[in-house]
Amino acid sequence: MIGAFEGIDGAHSQLVLDAYFRARDIAGQTLGSGNFREIAMAVAGGRAELGVVPIDNTTIGTIQDAYDLLFEFDLVPVAELSWRMDHRLLGVPGATLGDVREILAHPLVLAECGKFVASLTKARAIPCEDTGIAAREVSRRGETQIAAIAPPSAGTHYALVELAADIANHPDNLTRFLIFRARHAKPEVLALDKEGPRKTSLLLTAKNLPGALARCLEPLAAAEMSITKLESRPQPRKTDRAEFHIDVLGDLCDPAQSSVLKRLRESALEVRVLGSYRADAPFTVGAATVPIRATSMVRERQPMPPPPKLSSSTPRVIRDARPEGTRVRVGNVEIGDGTFTIIGGPCSIESREQIVATACAVRDAGGRMLRGGAFKPRTNPYAFQGMGWEAVELIAEAGRVSGLPTVSEVMSIDQVERMALLIDVLQVGARNMQNFDLLRAVGRSGKPVLLKRGLSATIDELLAAAEYILAEGNPNVIFCERGIRTFETATRNTLDLSAVPVLRERSHLPVLVDPSHGVGVRRWIRPLCRAAKAVGAHGVMVEVHPNPPEALSDKDQAMTFDDFAEVCRDLARIPLFEDDAIALV
Ligand code: PEP
Ligand code: MN
Repeated sequence: MIGAFEGIDGAHSQLVLDAYFRARDIAGQTLGSGNFREIAMAVAGGRAELGVVPIDNTTIGTIQDAYDLLFEFDLVPVAELSWRMDHRLLGVPGATLGDVREILAHPLVLAECGKFVASLTKARAIPCEDTGIAAREVSRRGETQIAAIAPPSAGTHYALVELAADIANHPDNLTRFLIFRARHAKPEVLALDKEGPRKTSLLLTAKNLPGALARCLEPLAAAEMSITKLESRPQPRKTDRAEFHIDVLGDLCDPAQSSVLKRLRESALEVRVLGSYRADAPFTVGAATVPIRATSMVRERQPMPPPPKLSSSTPRVIRDARPEGTRVRVGNVEIGDGTFTIIGGPCSIESREQIVATACAVRDAGGRMLRGGAFKPRTNPYAFQGMGWEAVELIAEAGRVSGLPTVSEVMSIDQVERMALLIDVLQVGARNMQNFDLLRAVGRSGKPVLLKRGLSATIDELLAAAEYILAEGNPNVIFCERGIRTFETATRNTLDLSAVPVLRERSHLPVLVDPSHGVGVRRWIRPLCRAAKAVGAHGVMVEVHPNPPEALSDKDQAMTFDDFAEVCRDLARIPLFEDDAIALV
């Protein structure tokens, strides 16, 4: 069994995984990963059966990124382990504490040892990706002025000596780790940790009103379930709702407790269950001196191994794979059941003024996301091809200025990595829907993907294209119906609105409609936006330009800011029909 952790040999998380395997007599191997997202993708994509992430620590509190990734990749917690983080300052043989001028450590570790680090007034703290890398770097450089904060086992592994011990701010510096698996896992993984005391982790949303939280918690009190954690998530903006991380002792996923969960759901605005897991860890504290096993298998930042061979009996795109439906979260926007998302922006990004003005107009009218092309797939090679990377930087800036997440098209594999650093949702355009290598690459990026239907693609082919992305372990795919080729020439394409209920029935992934490319004529976009919402789409994506006649691409279908505001007002008047579409199944 393979377990993925963040870092290389010597990392705390690797010790945790090793201890987990040993306590269960599992012949496990550990797979080093670059960051939390890579771990999540390794598990969701089947390259590892288990993963481990820290979720909170006595000094620094909750590690939000870890929670968010577990939700994003639909990962299921199996067990928790509270681990004493035995931090030591390690240097090369011959070094003394007085020599140290640079301290290398993981940023979380630097925070946990903040007081000690500050006491070494001559030394500079240097954040490092991982504990193991910090220790290895000190060993490699061989200089007495440089030291790493790492567990003692890393010292043994990299031949370092201890310069100081017990350096954490908190005498009981405990980190809680979660071991997790993919939702659809092999039987031997599903069988892990079924026994023993259980805990359930939830994300609960309550109204921001006096007494609202107390009322939400009432069903837990009535069921005599103890709360072991209650922490509000930082809210960057003032809103009328507040989110809380809650851990309770007990198994709220057990069908016997379904009435408690039901009451909780009735009293709160929303309850998302991360999962129930084994909550006792027999090897909790003091295990940090365990040596690293020779059997460990560490691959550091190597190219991803080829995806696992999927048998045709395990498709991930079909509704049965996730009957409750997928919600794709992009920043503070969620696309999926229960929401209708309007995305607006120009066909092509043309200048800073154009994209920033459009972003603000889209946001002010009620749009939730900004679109804009930097790389344009044009039929005519002499037509405007987009401003390229300069435009990618500009839309990222417009996204920051307006507060809107961004979506932009990637045309080739070599663009994916850099786009993923700057853009929130990667669009695969109609002409690339069956570029299978590109689909795999956006799958591996871990970024949400907006997948447009090909010009002459059937719904089956669209579903199969999404499967390529899901098979890489990336669950965040959004379909986009944008019109198909038919004999009809009065409209640019034929907007196939019947694809919406069909896709919703056949898949759990959210579906958007792009009437701009569907009809290609400005005045017909508004009625088709209304139709898209009425037929059960989860949102629309439309082209908006400050001055449509001057647009460098698709000027006939670009809406003015006023047109766009009208469309948003129209759409607000149309109810969501999501349940009807599903009820037909
Ligand atoms: C676009 O959305 O900018 C675009 C080029 O659309 P499509 O791939 O649907 O033609
Ligand atoms: Mn266009």
